[in-house]
Amino acid sequence: MPTSYLVAGASRGIGLEFIRQLARQQQEEDDDVVVYGTVRNLEKAPASLTNGSSSQEAELRRVKWLQLDTNEQSQVDEAARQVDELDVLIVNAAIGGEDLDLMDTNPSLLSQYLQNNVVGPHRIILAFLDALRKGKQKKIILISSRSGSMDMQAKSQQKHGSAGPYSVTKAAINMCAIQLARELKPQGFIVNPLSPGWVSTDMGNKIVNDKAMPVEQSVGGMLNVIRSLTLEKSATFYHYDGSVVPW
Ligand code: NDP
Repeated sequence: MPTSYLVAGASRGIGLEFIRQLARQQQEEDDDVVVYGTVRNLEKAPASLTNGSSSQEAELRRVKWLQLDTNEQSQVDEAARQVDELDVLIVNAAIGGEDLDLMDTNPSLLSQYLQNNVVGPHRIILAFLDALRKGKQKKIILISSRSGSMDMQAKSQQKHGSAGPYSVTKAAINMCAIQLARELKPQGFIVNPLSPGWVSTDMGNKIVNDKAMPVEQSVGGMLNVIRSLTLEKSATFYHYDGSVVPW
């Protein structure tokens, strides 16, 4: 039986690289993997995601694309109806990259961050639970950030990574992971937040950092971590390189 993955928020950046690497694995392992990618605008997928390269195009054509804005309940429900069985759900979609202090964040902007980065991911997880129950691996991966680590923020004299409302949402998503891991453990689910590190993407490049790593390295590392996850490792916050991040 093939292993099925769904990556929510796969139009670009880290999400698209997940799709690329999984599609490549699909080719190398003779259709052993089923890959679903969600995008907000289906008309842009997959042709506009190929960058004109025929090998990339071949990889991306093997992916099943679904339209989904995490803020739109009806789109999420419709996408979930199209996936009968799922092994691994990777919730990647988020907004961020603004260098904002909390004291300069107005309530409507904070609300926008919470909608996109907490309420949307929670909505996706609930919608795909039935499909995950039918899957073998029952893995839910929440793409988080070390900027959401309370411990690292509290111990840092300066803001740690992208702070402000973004880090509030990543701390919240970590709490979602802990609670969902506990609630779903009796059903055999494995739930983990993962930190991709600082990655050169549209979001990562908004804050100037010469240490931003290539997206291939981060996603390759995260896929290794995802494959190694077991029930015993559930509710642990991992960095892309397999090290444990403090809460
Ligand atoms: P990008 O900004 O490059 O890409 C964000 C992706 O999320 C796009 O595909 C975007 O779709 C999608 N998205 C955003 N909001 C929604 C929504 N409401 N519904 C559906 N899709 C949505 O970000 P990255 O690739 O850098 O980040 C991916 C993940 O990694 C995020 O969770 C981010 O917080 C996390 N992260 C990134 C770091 C970095 O250094 N890059 C560091 C730490 C964590 P669209 O194209 O339609 O806008």
